[in-house]
Amino acid sequence: MATKFVLIGSGLAGGLLAAYLGRRGYNVDLYERRADPREGNLVGGRSINLALSTRGIHALEQIGIADEVLRHAIPMRGRMIHPAGAGAHTIFAPYDVDPTKHINSIGRAALNTTVIEAAQRYPNVRVHFNHKCAGVDIDSAMAHLLNPPSPGYGVAGTSSSQPVNSSTTQPITASGDAVIGVDGAFSAVRQSMQLKIDNFEYDESYLAHGYKELTIPPGPDGSWRMEKNALHIWPRKSFMMIALPNPDGSFTCTLFWEFEGPRSFATTKTDDDVRRFFEEEFPDAVPLMPNLLDDFKNNPIGSLVTIRCAPWFYRDKVCLVGDAAHAVVPFYGQGMNAAFEDCVVLDKCLAAFPQDRQRAFAEYFQRRKENADALADLALENFIEMRDKTASRTFRAKKKLDHFLEAALPRVYLPLYTMVTFTRIPYARAARRARFQDGAIYAGLIAIAALLIGILLWFTG
Ligand SMILES: Cc1cc2nc3c(=O)[nH]c(=O)nc-3n(C[C@H](O)[C@H](O)[C@H](O)COP(=O)(O)OP(=O)(O)OC[C@H]3O[C@@H](n4cnc5c(N)ncnc54)[C@H](O)[C@@H]3O)c2cc1C
Repeated sequence: MATKFVLIGSGLAGGLLAAYLGRRGYNVDLYERRADPREGNLVGGRSINLALSTRGIHALEQIGIADEVLRHAIPMRGRMIHPAGAGAHTIFAPYDVDPTKHINSIGRAALNTTVIEAAQRYPNVRVHFNHKCAGVDIDSAMAHLLNPPSPGYGVAGTSSSQPVNSSTTQPITASGDAVIGVDGAFSAVRQSMQLKIDNFEYDESYLAHGYKELTIPPGPDGSWRMEKNALHIWPRKSFMMIALPNPDGSFTCTLFWEFEGPRSFATTKTDDDVRRFFEEEFPDAVPLMPNLLDDFKNNPIGSLVTIRCAPWFYRDKVCLVGDAAHAVVPFYGQGMNAAFEDCVVLDKCLAAFPQDRQRAFAEYFQRRKENADALADLALENFIEMRDKTASRTFRAKKKLDHFLEAALPRVYLPLYTMVTFTRIPYARAARRARFQDGAIYAGLIAIAALLIGILLWFTG
């Protein structure tokens, strides 16, 4: 009989991984605590839209759904920087020397639906919504699930094998040859591993900043009220706002701001406080945000966490994928892209060791862990770059030098952002190569300066 995987979580990576496993002929039961996103439920309380780039697109291509996804995407060719101060002009900074290179703004709900539907094309994949995992018995690969009564209850694709009592929560179990936790940053599967595995390494760290989503609605004719093909940034040193375009002409803005402090979410409570803060900091955005006060009052403040853990597997019974294994802060726009890349690597490892699942899990962990750790560091560093450095002339000059060197030394010099976003060079290798390149540039600049000083002294002396 074919191996059976129980997957917990049908977020972005869960749906895609189910499709990969379904394609290999495995039996897959995918359990998701939320209702079917196709019934109009919000997905996850996370960002409304995301930046999809080369690694994520590659993973979608392998399963044949990249074109379907990209049909709904809006290309963003660079950063549109909105400097501080009324009347300041915006500055466009392209992402790459090649003007055709871009990242893609994509709606989370549409993407989530597409990956789930891709999984459901395989008759051996079954998706069960409204099933919350309460824990996993990691020795027997058995998940304990709660199936709460809900008007949105449904099993998409085929009918559930479990009886449903519509008036009480049903504790049920799901067994397989292995359980895969694709259940996000606060993974119940990972918590079960933590409880049972001696020396399980776990580290979570929160930023002092939270985030709140706000909206710039479309213009009266449905058009975009700012440049459509850019990721807009209002860098303000210790905080920032960004905006990504949506296909309906709107922009989703995200304000990243300190939770606490003299000027923070905590101290900005009344309508006057909010209005004053926005008029001082984002004067060009305020006229475009007619629902600002309601959005600010009603939308939650999300937290920003980095999670590192090890190992990501237990024998041949349990494995972690995506944010469950390595949640990162969103400032490189890579969390989902990395989670999709996990699916490609795990699929390859399972194919390489079809008779030895533990070896496949171990190989997957070994190939991904160093890269996930490198991405976590890069994402934290990029917060400082986005909120502070993008507004500085020196930073923009370095970007221009990067692009000049990339054009002058093709295949020899690649800027870090290009490697992370537009190639599939493993994150750790990209970070090492960027450090080496920066070292070489600074050494070169020092040598040129020394030479010029030498020439000057020779002529004057
Ligand atoms: C503000 C913000 C902006 C971001 N922008 C980007 C971006 O531009 N580009 C990018 O690549 N990444 C971005 N990310 C990161 C991206 O959202 C995550 O990396 C990605 O969602 C991870 O996918 P996942 O499937 O591992 O987890 P999730 O998408 O979180 O999915 C986990 C799923 O598991 C379900 N689940 C959780 N617990 C249980 C349980 N106990 N039982 C059953 N089901 C459960 C959840 O309901 C959910 O459906 C951003 C994140 C944030 C917060």
